[in-house]
Amino acid sequence: MPLNPRRLRPIHRLGGGRLLPVGREQIPLIDFSSNDYLALSEHPDLIAESRRCLEKYGAGTGAARLMSGDLDIFHELEDLVAGFLDQEDALIFNSGYAANIGVIPALVGRGNVVFADRLDHASIYDGIRLSRAKLVRFRHNDLNHLEDCLKKKQGKGRSLIVVESVYSMDGDVCPLAGLVRLKEQYDCLLMVDEAHAVGMYGENGGGIVQQEDMAAEVDIIMGTFGKALGGFGAFVAGSRELKDFLVNRARSFIFSTALPPAVVGANLAALRLVVQEPQLRRELHAKVDHFKDSLRQQGFTADLGSSQIVPIHVGQSDRAMVMAVELGKKGFFATAIRPPTVPKGTVRLRFSVTRHHSVESLCAVAEVIARLVALQNK
Ligand SMILES: *Cc1c(COP(=O)(O)O)cnc(C)c1O
Repeated sequence: MPLNPRRLRPIHRLGGGRLLPVGREQIPLIDFSSNDYLALSEHPDLIAESRRCLEKYGAGTGAARLMSGDLDIFHELEDLVAGFLDQEDALIFNSGYAANIGVIPALVGRGNVVFADRLDHASIYDGIRLSRAKLVRFRHNDLNHLEDCLKKKQGKGRSLIVVESVYSMDGDVCPLAGLVRLKEQYDCLLMVDEAHAVGMYGENGGGIVQQEDMAAEVDIIMGTFGKALGGFGAFVAGSRELKDFLVNRARSFIFSTALPPAVVGANLAALRLVVQEPQLRRELHAKVDHFKDSLRQQGFTADLGSSQIVPIHVGQSDRAMVMAVELGKKGFFATAIRPPTVPKGTVRLRFSVTRHHSVESLCAVAEVIARLVALQNK
């Protein structure tokens, strides 16, 4: 066992972004660790459409898509995703993890090279490992380092560059225009994981690729339904050729039972909402600004990132754990993120702002954070 083992902590979910830890039922906590950014998981439209699909199609699909699990609602959802992202077509995967470990080995193999940002999500690294391609890690968001690596590249065939758009642990955004320039100059494929950006950025909520108007330049867009979209599952969008290829080659797609109808229903409703109601993300971004302003008023000068994910760096693992416990006593739930999820020495408390948070709770948590950080630094 590691020194600081990870533990499951069962909770009662109270709704409205609040929870009660089982066994410590005294005080409800406001959840600052959820990725349910737009609070869609509790939205009546998602629940209604989920229920409709459950009742119409049953609780499970009973088979993989390539067997008898290929319900019409998968195609409806894929058409919606493709339109949403301005891509020719899309393919649904059972989770973001399944998408990344399916897509990467389908695209590259032994002898090819994959260039991955150092802070890419574990599922991307697992996908690369499974592919047996050569892995080259470049420094986080460092285009000069990536270019050096591309110049030195040794390998056959076309290479793949894989990045996230909004980084899940630091909340910063990839330099997309520069990545597109390099991928064109060095003739690589570019895959962008938009797990923390779909629903949140861009004119329709399509993500950073949409915001930067790069839909035609990015080869593979991956996104999840489980975060801002409030449901579960994932999609990969790109050319029709890409989809046909993945249907034949992505093993996590081929050899797994299709998502339950209720989940597909929730995802359908979430996509429609995000397109039709841009005020959902406007409200959220206003709250994010409020939280960061409150932290700055409390004297924070560190970079707070440019997204809804706000890392508070605390250096050492034990400090982060102590702070998480203290926050709990004040009614806030935040998780300490430590290695191997993040590099050694960069332990942090990760706060994510959601539409559930009131202006008052954002102010209050900022005050508590400032006080705890000041105590730690004494
Ligand atoms: C959460 C996440 C995933 C995994 O998605 P799941 O649907 O939760 O399996 C993949 N990539 C990134 C960047 C993520 O943050």
